[in-house]
Amino acid sequence: MQYISTRGKAPALGFEDTMLSGLARDGGLYVPETIPQMSADDIRAMHGLPYEDIAYRVMRPFVGDAFTDEVFADLIAKAYAGFGHDARAPLVQLGSGHFLLELFHGPTLAFKDFAMQLIGQMFEEALTRRGDRVTIVGATSGDTGSAAIEAFRGLDAVDVFILYPHGRVSEVQRRQMTTPVEDNVHALALDGTFDDCQARLKDMFNDFDFRDGVKLAGVNSINWGRVLAQVVYYFSSAVSLGAPDRMVSFTVPTGNFGDIFAGYIAKRMGLPIDRLVVATNQNDILHRCLTTGGYVTDSVTPSISPSMDIQVSSNFERALFDAYNRDGGAVAQLMDELKAGGFHVSQGTMHVLREHYDSGRVSEDETLAMITHAHNHMGELLCPHSAIGVKVAEEIKDPSVPMVTLATAHPAKFPDAVEKASGLRPALPERMADLFDRDERMTRVPNDLAKLETLIKDRIAS
Ligand SMILES: *Cc1c(COP(=O)(O)O)cnc(C)c1O
Repeated sequence: MQYISTRGKAPALGFEDTMLSGLARDGGLYVPETIPQMSADDIRAMHGLPYEDIAYRVMRPFVGDAFTDEVFADLIAKAYAGFGHDARAPLVQLGSGHFLLELFHGPTLAFKDFAMQLIGQMFEEALTRRGDRVTIVGATSGDTGSAAIEAFRGLDAVDVFILYPHGRVSEVQRRQMTTPVEDNVHALALDGTFDDCQARLKDMFNDFDFRDGVKLAGVNSINWGRVLAQVVYYFSSAVSLGAPDRMVSFTVPTGNFGDIFAGYIAKRMGLPIDRLVVATNQNDILHRCLTTGGYVTDSVTPSISPSMDIQVSSNFERALFDAYNRDGGAVAQLMDELKAGGFHVSQGTMHVLREHYDSGRVSEDETLAMITHAHNHMGELLCPHSAIGVKVAEEIKDPSVPMVTLATAHPAKFPDAVEKASGLRPALPERMADLFDRDERMTRVPNDLAKLETLIKDRIAS
């Protein structure tokens, strides 16, 4: 299995190199050259299997010769062993034809654990075999950073630096990043927005001297390994609702488009998915693009769903690559236009995008109202991100097709908004109840590439 860049100018790589490098050297994102197919019988055979077995069957064809069958099965087992629910991704019913896929039972209480825990295992295995070491730098609006730190803390072959926007992550998110005591963990509070963090990260990847000097590796949602791990729960949930003999739709609280793009991959593999619905908060560049064709950046307005506070949605480039018939030159040109403020998607391309994706936008007030409603009438305490998904799903769902909304974080990760809307302050699960008593450790950093690079070089040298 080979992976190619969405901008058409980087060498094709196997799975292991694709995963270890993150961003392609031409600035593009790696995608599989061909999509492995699952027959209806393959999908039917997943009925009743444990999550780990479904994970193995879905991901195995993408991994190629990077790991043996036995090693890969073992990495999957280790990745999910620390989850707080035996089903890993349980499905609960919200109402008629509407289901909630709870993706928040991992160690940092957000869906990002599904990918990050597996990536941690795969990095350690591959690097140890190679006798190599890497520097992971990630940008986070909150959940990626905590998930990455949790997955990589204490590993020998990795230093992990996480850039987060100072003052713009929730206290639980911040503490999950600043309280680990391991020397290889570095939480960096940047003076700027999440988009600034993401931009500096991209700059580091495009500075080849720095990139090669520190052996930079990325685990942001652009990393193909992350997308791949997220494909699995589309299969596990659809199968439990009757796939392949029944269609299913999904609504996904969306920021960087990684999670929903995994749903698109599942569909391309043969899972009968009807609609993939993008749900955004007030930072709605994706909703605007999918309704008007204009992908035009705006400033970020901080919201109560901070993990979706973005204006540039990195993984959307992968969707565009397919919608433009895999023309890397066309995508590279759009990305150049984006640097100058935005681009417009052609009519034909809009048609292709709309064959797969719907979208909706939810305001702050509507988000709070949905948390209240779900608490009073659906028996569910939702985090603000999940509430945005449920709201859009309720508006869009077709009564003849079951709708699954992805619950992307545990309500206790965002207790202020949840309490404001429901009157209940959600408690942290037992296993992390002492989070507020632990000491914090972090470094304030300016929004300045040269200073950041110097700090990282100094830290890994010492
Ligand atoms: C990261 C995150 C999202 C957005 O996911 P993308 O893959 O970036 O679209 C939504 N909700 C929560 C809680 C998250 O942590």
